[in-house]
Amino acid sequence: MKLMYINGKFTNGHATEEIQVQNPATEEIIDSIPRGKPEDIQEAVQAAKSVFDSWRKMGSNERASLLHEVAGKVHEHKEKIVQLLTLEEGKPVAENEEEVEWVINTFRYYAELGRHHRGSVLTSGEHSQFNFIIKEPYGVVGCIVPWNYPLLLLAWKVAPALAAGNTVVIKPSEMTPLTALYLAEHCFNHLPAGVVNVVTGYGLETGEPLVKHPDVPVIAFTGSLATGQKIASIGAPMMKKLHLELGGKDATVIAEDADPEIAAKAVAYAALLNAGQVCTSTERVYIPRRGGAKFTEAIVEHVKSLRIGPGTDSATDMGPMIGDSYRAKFEKHIADAKSNGAKVLFGGGRPKHLTKGFFHEPTVLSDVNHSMVIMREETFGPAVPIMEYTTFDEAIKLTNDCMFGLGAVLISNDPKKIKQFFDDVKAGTIWINDPLTDNYAGPFGGMKYSGGARELGEVGLDEFREVKHVHWDFNMEDKSYWYPYGRE
Ligand code: NAD
Repeated sequence: MKLMYINGKFTNGHATEEIQVQNPATEEIIDSIPRGKPEDIQEAVQAAKSVFDSWRKMGSNERASLLHEVAGKVHEHKEKIVQLLTLEEGKPVAENEEEVEWVINTFRYYAELGRHHRGSVLTSGEHSQFNFIIKEPYGVVGCIVPWNYPLLLLAWKVAPALAAGNTVVIKPSEMTPLTALYLAEHCFNHLPAGVVNVVTGYGLETGEPLVKHPDVPVIAFTGSLATGQKIASIGAPMMKKLHLELGGKDATVIAEDADPEIAAKAVAYAALLNAGQVCTSTERVYIPRRGGAKFTEAIVEHVKSLRIGPGTDSATDMGPMIGDSYRAKFEKHIADAKSNGAKVLFGGGRPKHLTKGFFHEPTVLSDVNHSMVIMREETFGPAVPIMEYTTFDEAIKLTNDCMFGLGAVLISNDPKKIKQFFDDVKAGTIWINDPLTDNYAGPFGGMKYSGGARELGEVGLDEFREVKHVHWDFNMEDKSYWYPYGRE
């Protein structure tokens, strides 16, 4: 069993039970973790609160070098971390290598950004005055992380939160806690005790007590809309800073000028990366009605060529889904589409050659419409539902006909269409011809029900700093606008 990390020590805390961690590709139990209790959150928050003042007052050079050291240690342990990530999350090794690279560079990026500046000087109303803005840390940040990118989404919160001078309590997903605990043991172990804490357990027993805790002013959460709404209902009346990264239902629009082979590859990557379990997965594909068949055929041909198997096999393109209940929900969406007239052009079932693990074939569908669940709700699995549009205006209307607004993709080289797309589509990230590529300096986050938080970039640092305005008058003297009024 792996232990929790509280106040610089590995502990079973108050747990009386353990939670087993399963490999989604084999269904084998790979390890277990303590089933943490609210008392463990209490102790972790206490530790993070006690060290906050010294961490926030630490010189920026020293803090930066400690964060660079985190990056250096992740780099040193990369192979082992990738292996563990592949076992607990399931996606192919190549995708996990990419995820770990992101972790390394996110810590490096924020180590530097954190010492760049912490405010600005304003133009004062009078020459004798000095006005400036200080951006300062909030205190203890609760970081609640999902299972689909267990380390990347941890780094996008923890690195900027620490760089801004906050301390953190991390609650990893109960399905993928092992890599977070590995980082605690090997990569956070040089930080002062209490600066980073990792409490394992279920959402209701550890996540919710973290949200309710009066000494945790910020909750940085990535996860489902339902959990985000619950967190908001608890945190909003407590006036907490809620940083919520929620679900998505991203569209890819293929324009008439697109090359069918390129468009097919872009769509498959966007829809099937991590078996479609990316918040910015393409979950709706819109193709032009005129000449649409060539796009559909190219997509089917390309998807047919993909190899499904365990992530540990270097020949695998697509791994398993995370668990049985997630696969069951996915299958419901496919069944609903079929019963309402959708056609399965490829896939549609569980792969015959894989008897263990939560695998599902990548599934290409046509004849879908917006009355179907698969075009409305987050599916979070390997589906490629294709719908035709008549005009580009209609494609944009369909893209926006969605409660979520996380990302959107356009495949085109037509500048007029590209401009119309990024002007009129309501989404936090617009990708033209290169879906799902993020940028350390580029804010990532959503609009509408995807939540309004932003990660990465300077905005991602500011999410963890609050603003204080200082008005300073050098002259300690009576002011003409003080009482009594009406003096000559
Ligand atoms: P989830 O909401 O079930 O769980 C996320 C985390 O919240 C887990 O650590 C869980 O234990 C915890 N949790 C559960 N109930 C809680 C509660 N009542 N109070 C506090 N914490 C609680 O989500 P998931 O299934 O782990 O992740 C998949 C979801 O995450 C998808 O909806 C996906 O779109 C979303 N996601 C969003 C982004 C983004 O950046 N917008 C990125 C990745 C994933």
